[in-house]
Amino acid sequence: VKITRLCAIYNGVGLAILSLGSPATFAQNVNICAAQDQYTVLIHAGTVYDADDVTEAQDDLLRSVVAEARDELAQGFASLDVVVNAIVKLEDSGLVDAGKGSYRNTAGFVEADASLMNGETGRSGAVAAMQTLKNPILGARTVMEETPHVLFVGPTGEETLIGLGVEAVPDPASYFVPVSAPEEMTFESGTVGVVALDRCGHLAAGTSTGGYPGKLPGRVGDSPIIGASTFADRHYALSATGKGENFIQRSVTLDIAKRAEYQGVSLQEAADYVVHELLGDIDQVDGAIIAISWEGEIVLSAVNVVGELHGYASNSIDVTVGVELP
Ligand code: ASP
Repeated sequence: VKITRLCAIYNGVGLAILSLGSPATFAQNVNICAAQDQYTVLIHAGTVYDADDVTEAQDDLLRSVVAEARDELAQGFASLDVVVNAIVKLEDSGLVDAGKGSYRNTAGFVEADASLMNGETGRSGAVAAMQTLKNPILGARTVMEETPHVLFVGPTGEETLIGLGVEAVPDPASYFVPVSAPEEMTFESGTVGVVALDRCGHLAAGTSTGGYPGKLPGRVGDSPIIGASTFADRHYALSATGKGENFIQRSVTLDIAKRAEYQGVSLQEAADYVVHELLGDIDQVDGAIIAISWEGEIVLSAVNVVGELHGYASNSIDVTVGVELP
């Protein structure tokens, strides 16, 4: 049964108020939602093998990004803006495998993947194998909002997006500094994902990554593939991290969302089945997902790892950051 929620959006009024406070990356698009008190944000920064490997700086980063996202949601920002703003901060930090901190392929250069999905409209945008974009997630947003397409790839896709105003770094070889040397890699690999439920009751999801070290030139992972990593609809928003090949082959996040919807099982049950039994037991790979429901349920599931670096907060839960799953 689909429940239609009433949603109040006050354009302009909210923008005037918000321009005094925290500016959004896409401030001109800010819609102010106030239809419900409930809101939730959940972030992952990759799978983790040893909790002691997560640095204080990474912990602090996640804490501050979650806190800012929670404040934006409380003020009524749209979930899509919150997801994008949070991912931009993570990409700019140099502390995760996305944006500035991206790992390089075996030929020694970055090919970044990212995607974004608006659960309310069903629209998505994605980029793959981007070599110069400062913020791949802004490339994904531009694909979604400025073109009739859903996925742009490689140098020609990048050129089109730069033509549409997406920022490229002038010297990628010096701008991108891998978050850690591949041999010291603590995460596999520090991909980031954000899901949010706003006060309109709308969901959004996004994922961004440099992929994992040792990937061949031209390889594309699951992070820009809708339904493999990023997925959002009116009920659920999800993002994944782990061995992308298997996430693509199993349409992991789409499968979880549809199992929960069609089988009537809980989101946690659907996630645990796909992650533990399909990816873990059958495929024998590592991986993790984050997911939230339109009712604010927070779900984390991981297999063959200690956990995933994650952070969350909601209208009723304080900022919480950790590695091991609850
Ligand atoms: N899923 C990413 C990829 O396969 C990597 C990761 O999340 O660790 O590119």
